[in-house]
Amino acid sequence: MLKRLEIVGFKSFAKKTILDFSSVTTAIVGPNGSGKSNVAEAFRFALGEQSMKSMRGKRTEDLIWGGSHSMPRLMRASVAIVFDNSRRIFKIDFDEVVIERAAFRDGTSEYSINGSRVRLRDIEELLAGANIGETSHHIISQGEADRILLASPRDRRAMLEDALGLRVYEFKKQEAEKKLLKTEDNIAQVNSLRRELAPHLRFLESQVKKLERAQALRDTLTSACQTYFAIEDAFLEQERRAIAEEKKNAIDRLAAATEELSRIEERATNDAEGTKRLGAVRRAEALVERLLGERSVLSREIGRVEGSLAAAKQRSVKVVNDPYAKVPREALSALAEETEKQAAHADTLEAARAALRALHGAVRAFVDRFIAPADDLLAEEEHAAYALENERTELLGKDTVLAEELERAKSALARAREDLTAHDETGKELHRRILDLAQAKAHEESMVAKSEARERALGFFTEELERDKAEALALVGAAVLSYEPLPVLPAEERRVQEERKRSLERIKIRLEEAGGAGEDIRREHKEVSEREAFLARELDDLAASAAGLRALIVDLETELAKHFTLGLTQVNASLSEYFALMFGGGSARLALEEPDVEAEGEDPEESLDEGMPKEKERPGIEIVVNLPKKKVRSLMQLSGGERALTSIALIFAMSQVNPPPFLILDETDAALDEANSRRYGDMIENLAQKSQLIVITHNRETMSRAGILYGVTMGGDGVSKLLSVKFDEAVAVAK
Ligand code: ATP
Repeated sequence: MLKRLEIVGFKSFAKKTILDFSSVTTAIVGPNGSGKSNVAEAFRFALGEQSMKSMRGKRTEDLIWGGSHSMPRLMRASVAIVFDNSRRIFKIDFDEVVIERAAFRDGTSEYSINGSRVRLRDIEELLAGANIGETSHHIISQGEADRILLASPRDRRAMLEDALGLRVYEFKKQEAEKKLLKTEDNIAQVNSLRRELAPHLRFLESQVKKLERAQALRDTLTSACQTYFAIEDAFLEQERRAIAEEKKNAIDRLAAATEELSRIEERATNDAEGTKRLGAVRRAEALVERLLGERSVLSREIGRVEGSLAAAKQRSVKVVNDPYAKVPREALSALAEETEKQAAHADTLEAARAALRALHGAVRAFVDRFIAPADDLLAEEEHAAYALENERTELLGKDTVLAEELERAKSALARAREDLTAHDETGKELHRRILDLAQAKAHEESMVAKSEARERALGFFTEELERDKAEALALVGAAVLSYEPLPVLPAEERRVQEERKRSLERIKIRLEEAGGAGEDIRREHKEVSEREAFLARELDDLAASAAGLRALIVDLETELAKHFTLGLTQVNASLSEYFALMFGGGSARLALEEPDVEAEGEDPEESLDEGMPKEKERPGIEIVVNLPKKKVRSLMQLSGGERALTSIALIFAMSQVNPPPFLILDETDAALDEANSRRYGDMIENLAQKSQLIVITHNRETMSRAGILYGVTMGGDGVSKLLSVKFDEAVAVAK
């Protein structure tokens, strides 16, 4: 998989140096300090290593050729690793993948994949997909072989998971947990929005219900009005016609009687005395006529005043029934909301007092603004009624005076007529006739007056009906007036219609009590309930995605646990084999840490981190070693060589189970004696069947197992140089 490494300006490799890896196992040999480990570090560097320590430096500058007497320092170090990707180990569609990193003296780095600039993250993702993980279990630096032995059980677990290719589950889980946290946050936010919305929505709902009740009342009122108005129209029309007819007949009869009378009276007078008496009759008649006219005018005036008085009384009755009709509904709503708001905050005695004070102020302002003016309105109406009442009394007084005067004039006329007939001795018959006619005339006059009185009453009824119509129109709209006129008055008693009128008034009062929130309330209610429904849906969605994430986390944990258990068994099988091979017996295995009290309290900061409680639950990994013929209680009791052997067995066992594409071993064999070196060599050959190996070594045995040997030398100029060497040369170079 590894094809080539190209180093320019990295540490001691001042000049461009290319290592070809055309064999499965490549050995790098050379004297101490010639720059072999720098090759292993070049790998780390190119793969995105961020820890300066693991590249034996303090700052980025330490990674760049620092200069010598013969060659000046460089500004840039770069390393490119060329991979063969024909088997698509990397999930990109290229047969060759070049990962390159360059570092500059200002501390910055640039990364690229196949020549395109990318972010470090892109490199990490690409590598993770090919089991070249972040704990770099595939690059074992010099002296670091027993890193896995020295690591804490928890770090050891992380290394093992990484080597088994399981970190990806861990990453996915962390990602899911992060998303879950965010989702739960969103749920809380949506919930709080809904809680904020709830009281307003409740208020709007009650307003809309009121609106609906008012609408129902309005519909009832409309149809009741239509029935009432149609019947009333027909009734008034019928009355009007009857009265007109009656009046016309009376007037006709009156005219006939008058004419007949004046004809007879004319005949009755032929002398001067007679003429004088007739003159007296005519004057008396004229006076009666005039007084009748005046009284008729007066009675029309009385009719008008009485009409206005009735209307004024009706208005003030309405004000008394609903004195707050003029109070805008919004003001009432605002007062209700204020009450609700204050009540919500009144949870302590002090707060309750403050709320009460605030409420008192609000109610006071409300009364001043709306209730007091309503009282003023009532007073105004009553004042108007009082003035009209006075006017009526005055007119009635005049009418009484006029009636008396008329009575006197009529008596005078009767007397004048008697005088006239008495003067005509011969006219006994004529006299009787004149008296009869005068009587008939008086009767017809009273009939006309009666008709006129009925006309006036009718006028009053008509006005009242018009007022009722105007009021209904204002209250419920034009629909009240769109009804079919009745061709005939239904056959029913008048009191049925009067009862209809009373029922209309009752509906009107109920309608006014129901109040009328505006149409904007309906619109607002629609908007707010739509928002509420939207939030509810969103909450459902969020709850579903939270449930999905929780399920995913459980799945990932299960998968991880399953693979981990399986991997652990496999690693243990390999480990015991390698261990027995290296030590000529004995055994070693990885065991899950017993959760003891000490370990629980080990990291108090961790227990505060509630986001990742699962991390703590997972037990770390212990290494249990049984040497042949020796009893050891801890890893610390092992010798350096024994430690190296144990680590090698473990590293190889892990690599066996989930082989990394390549493995770099920097002097991992340094502590081995001859016998163990042979075994090590056997294992390397074994391992090379699955992973490509680069071994940095001084060990002859190890060198003998490599297909390619590179020698690294360093001249007086401090620059590392690379040369391809034969085995015998290599042995010589290495010394
Ligand atoms: P050993 O066999 O003893 O482990 P080695 O061959 O692994 O030795 P390295 O540790 O790889 O040797 O090389 C260290 C050499 O690299 C030292 O001579 C050091 O001066 C040189 N070196 C390290 N960093 C730089 C740099 N930035 N510029 C120039 N030379 C450097």
